[in-house]
Amino acid sequence: MQASTVHSAGALLTIDLDAICDNWRLLRAKVGPADCAAVVKADAYGLGAQRVGPALAAAGCRHFFVAHLAEGMALRPLLPAQATVYVLHGAPLGAEAECAAHGLVPVLNSRQQIDAWRGVARGLGQRLPAIVQVDSGMARLGLSAPELAQLTADSSAFDSIDVAYVMSHLACADEPQHPANAAQLASFVAARRLLPAAPATFANSSGIFLGAAYHFELARPGAALYGVAPVPGQPNPMRPVVRLQGKVMQTRTVEAGAAVGYSASWVAPQASRIVTVSVGYADGYLRSLSGRGSAWLGEVELPLVGRVSMDTITVDVSALPEGAIVPGTLLDLLTPQHNVDAVAARAGTIGYEILTSLGSRYERHYLSGRSAAPG
Ligand SMILES: *Cc1c(COP(=O)(O)O)cnc(C)c1O
Repeated sequence: MQASTVHSAGALLTIDLDAICDNWRLLRAKVGPADCAAVVKADAYGLGAQRVGPALAAAGCRHFFVAHLAEGMALRPLLPAQATVYVLHGAPLGAEAECAAHGLVPVLNSRQQIDAWRGVARGLGQRLPAIVQVDSGMARLGLSAPELAQLTADSSAFDSIDVAYVMSHLACADEPQHPANAAQLASFVAARRLLPAAPATFANSSGIFLGAAYHFELARPGAALYGVAPVPGQPNPMRPVVRLQGKVMQTRTVEAGAAVGYSASWVAPQASRIVTVSVGYADGYLRSLSGRGSAWLGEVELPLVGRVSMDTITVDVSALPEGAIVPGTLLDLLTPQHNVDAVAARAGTIGYEILTSLGSRYERHYLSGRSAAPG
């Protein structure tokens, strides 16, 4: 990923679509003979669903998951007809007909959503596809055990609905030794017996690495496609996807005792060269990185000093020779070596939040076909 000129924006975000596709191929090979979907909710974890979706479709991906109906409506026209877009939250109450009209497949998470979808199908005089989600122990979305028992007693509950998959979601898949994984698996297998016979989808990124028993017919990775380590603490098999470079706006030398930034939280212990970079918490550069984050020029680590402001950060570049950094120099904030997981650890969060916070003010470059395509 080469440096690039960034003129109008304060920072350059380079997104490697080829790496995303390679990551999808790696996961698909790992779950084979099961199929592998792509979760592209939240604008493909902040990376741009409008670019990521078609790139993955071209690589052969046929199953896409978004969270919201509106996300599905925006994505559907960009994908080939053979691809299916599933809406994890299902249709909002009253918007079921819109969901059907846009050719989107809802995840039905409650009896109420099942009944509403069946009503739309009957009104249209046709069968409609859906995924049915059961709660296997996370207590977030999906049919509860009592709801499931009630449904089973009603032989017409799934009239007019083609159940494409039975689904559930793991709460602790990123902790392979956690007993909740096996407990959820057993609960899911039992719940499937109570539902119309259908293929199953269970594993997210981390779930794929729990073993073949978790793969069923379709895996649903998101984060790992975008380079997040699927098994924390283990070597990361995924290719890195993002590079973020912030532009230096000003350089200055401060005397010992000078305070830098809001609340004067950092005071120079000696004369220091400080640069101001055009990235702040409004760009998703988390304020919790104050005093903990770093920028890099090549392999030289340059510590953030003072608070992260809304639009700027301040960096101590005293480690570099004078003149090595001038206004316009790009400093690395996320790289393949200093990746979302590493920055997340410093910020006290997870790689998912670093990605989904990435700002809208960045100039975005997409790499595909091993070349840079302007965003
Ligand atoms: C977000 C989400 C996924 C993808 O999870 P990752 O951990 O990013 O792989 C899969 N399934 C459901 C239901 C989700 O909400």
